[in-house]
Amino acid sequence: MLLRHTTAAVAERSALTVNPAKTCQPIGAMYAALGLNGCLPHSHGSQGCCAYHRSTLTRHYKEPVMAGTSSFTEGASVFGGQANLVQAINNMFTIYEPEVIAVHTTCLSETIGDDLPQIISKARDDGKIPARKFVIHANTPSYVGTHVTGYANMAKAMVDYFAEKNGVRSRAVNIVPGFVEPSDMAEIRRIAGEMGITPILFPDTSNVLNGPLTGKFAMYPEGGVTVSELTRSGSSKATVALGRLAAGPAARAMDVKCKVPCHILDLPVGLKKTDEFVDVLRQLAGVQVPDSLEVERGQLLDVISDMHQYLHGVKVGIVGDPDQLIALTDFLVSVDMIPVHIVTGTPGKKFEKRIREIVKDVPHRVNVSAGGDMFLFHQWVKNEPVDLMIGNTYLKYIARDEDIPLLRYGFPILDRVGHSYFPTVGYRGGIRLLEKILDALLDRKDRDSPESGFELVM
Ligand code: SF4
Repeated sequence: MLLRHTTAAVAERSALTVNPAKTCQPIGAMYAALGLNGCLPHSHGSQGCCAYHRSTLTRHYKEPVMAGTSSFTEGASVFGGQANLVQAINNMFTIYEPEVIAVHTTCLSETIGDDLPQIISKARDDGKIPARKFVIHANTPSYVGTHVTGYANMAKAMVDYFAEKNGVRSRAVNIVPGFVEPSDMAEIRRIAGEMGITPILFPDTSNVLNGPLTGKFAMYPEGGVTVSELTRSGSSKATVALGRLAAGPAARAMDVKCKVPCHILDLPVGLKKTDEFVDVLRQLAGVQVPDSLEVERGQLLDVISDMHQYLHGVKVGIVGDPDQLIALTDFLVSVDMIPVHIVTGTPGKKFEKRIREIVKDVPHRVNVSAGGDMFLFHQWVKNEPVDLMIGNTYLKYIARDEDIPLLRYGFPILDRVGHSYFPTVGYRGGIRLLEKILDALLDRKDRDSPESGFELVM
């Protein structure tokens, strides 16, 4: 109801965000940490922060997300959180027995200025970290960046702490997926497997946040990259990063630290971006693209060709994370849809530049904002309505107020399931995305058709 008071007139705002199109850094760091086998994430801040991070991930994945907290109160806020963190490390290793504790900071501990490497080193000196167990950290102040930055920082921490160069270059290929679903990570691994590559994929939340219901609780599910794999990753022959913002920093850190050359690509969403990914894998593996992938590619092409009449000229408004929006916009433009309004909550001039390049031949004015919010998006939609909106669950209020179909895509999705199990990357993922887009458009067409135009067959 409140959104009905959104005005169409757009006023300049510099210091006020309304209805943010992002979540906080530690959520991304916690998600990445869950992609490390046997890892217990730890939030160095107040209990409230940790509860928010856990509940957002739990609601999105419909799985219980475990994490520790330094439980800051007034004392820690004034004197620093060293004592709390050292005790928390001791408690967690003693009671919950993780292989790794991945600590991320919060707004409060960053404002205090807690020095995590020093605190971790003190915990080690005090004998609080058992032999062959590890504590890693990432700085994730949420007043800078978003959940995507937090994910990138924790993925990079895995390189900083574990990757080692042993002098012999192996045939392995590292793949750093961006902030994508567990289903996407599994699909990326499968595509690499089709090319004859067994990748070291990190982080890897498949089989962690989309595992089966077995009737037995597992504190540490089977999935996730292992410490031993991460150690070996420093000797791999290459690293492929999928998503410049979320995966790029880890790949570049690997290059700097261990001289593993990196290929930084966009997320493999849609035909062209998947082609780019497969082509890099083909070169690294020194093989031809197998028939199995050619068939999948052909199927995606077939769907595009069959359904083009329903996609052509459809105006779309999108809200999401930069890596996803860049690949998705490219896909939408490639099937002749018209992305009219594009908003990400993550700031960055490069994003706007990339999107402008992708839409340069679109015969329509395109609104783009990095660091924008959903209020601005709503105002844009009021000024120029679209046929379809794509974005996370928070868009549902605007979708209802404006009576526009919504395709849930991105993070977080709090009111639907499926994203954890069915990928949207790769050729098969492209088919699924098109299926969801067409379902939304054709359901609306059926709803609005007069009796005479209510067709049984498309
Ligand atoms: S205080 Fe900062 S770290 Fe904590 S939940 Fe809020 S934005 Fe996130």
